[in-house]
Amino acid sequence: MTIPFNRLAMLGGEAKFIEEALAKSHLMGDGGFTKKCHAVLEEALPGSKALLTTSCTHALEMAGLLLDVKPGDEVIVPSFTFVSTANAFALRGARIVFADVRPDTLNLDEAKLEALITPRTRLIVPVHYAGVGCEMDAILAIAARHGVPVVEDNAHGLFGTYRGRPLGTLGTFSTLSFHETKNISCGEGGALLINDARHAERAEIIREKGTNRSRFFRGQVDKYTWVDIGSSYVMSDLLAAFLYGQLVAREHVQARRRALWDTYHRELASWAQAQGVTVPHVPAHCEQAFHMYYLLMPSLDARTRFIAHLRAQDINAVFHYLPLHVSDMGQRYGGRAGDCPVTEDVSDRLVRLPFFTTMTVEEQARVLGAVRDFRC
Ligand SMILES: *Cc1c(COP(=O)(O)O)cnc(C)c1O
Repeated sequence: MTIPFNRLAMLGGEAKFIEEALAKSHLMGDGGFTKKCHAVLEEALPGSKALLTTSCTHALEMAGLLLDVKPGDEVIVPSFTFVSTANAFALRGARIVFADVRPDTLNLDEAKLEALITPRTRLIVPVHYAGVGCEMDAILAIAARHGVPVVEDNAHGLFGTYRGRPLGTLGTFSTLSFHETKNISCGEGGALLINDARHAERAEIIREKGTNRSRFFRGQVDKYTWVDIGSSYVMSDLLAAFLYGQLVAREHVQARRRALWDTYHRELASWAQAQGVTVPHVPAHCEQAFHMYYLLMPSLDARTRFIAHLRAQDINAVFHYLPLHVSDMGQRYGGRAGDCPVTEDVSDRLVRLPFFTTMTVEEQARVLGAVRDFRC
């Protein structure tokens, strides 16, 4: 039996809640299940207002609209991230500026940030890679000094903390992903978290096609109309029902993922040291969200052989982001090989081991055995 890289976890409540949503025949957005999901997220992220969206990509696009990102503005993102972190702002005409990452956490390198800021810098978008917090005190201080807002791409970091503060509560906005590959999922989905109440009303309008429909539903206006630009970013309540089934099981999800992560870390430590393989680093002041387990192999060649070695035993391990600054689009913003040396290096050497909530002890034992058989 193949051990996949990821397998969707069914946690028990999803089908029941979907039945309930069907019975109420309320499938459009902002029904009872959306409200329940908002309540769970707002409890986990104190001070934030949550809005479910159709994806994390769309939540990032909403942040670009809310902050009026315009052509000519510069948006700083790590080069080592998913395309959407940059594309959401490229859509608004922004010029994307790529920051390199730290070699230990693979998060945006705060020591290299200030040199990238210009009078045109409009936004900084750190990503908490693997659910381990960026150095937010330094990033927020630099941003404040230059009057630039911060949006956290928290697709990996739900339930993680930085110096005791939940990831996702630190920027003006943060975004979540409920894509099938994430810790908590509904196939395709996301959320925008609003940490500055001044943006709350406009966020509702942008999410509802530029209308004040949310105020209408609350009885605050007697008809709804077109008041601003916007788009269709509301998640169906049917998907929210599935998502709620996952959110109510969040403690089980995180506990299982913690156990799997700790087992990989403990059982691979001496093998990794002997083979010159680097294991993930989690600073003491960060409680991570247990999104993935990755290894940094000594070379691209070792990684290629390692993935083939596992594949031969029906185990799917996969690499991750290609550096955005040297992608076709990145080069249009002036990105050149050599600009982000750490990103270029780790992107060649990083491999993610199978890691998912329903992974069994036997499955993990098989992966561990196969990994420890490998010689770099
Ligand atoms: C998954 C992911 C996204 C995109 O999430 P979607 O919900 O699929 O749009 C954005 N940023 C990062 C860092 C991600 O891992």
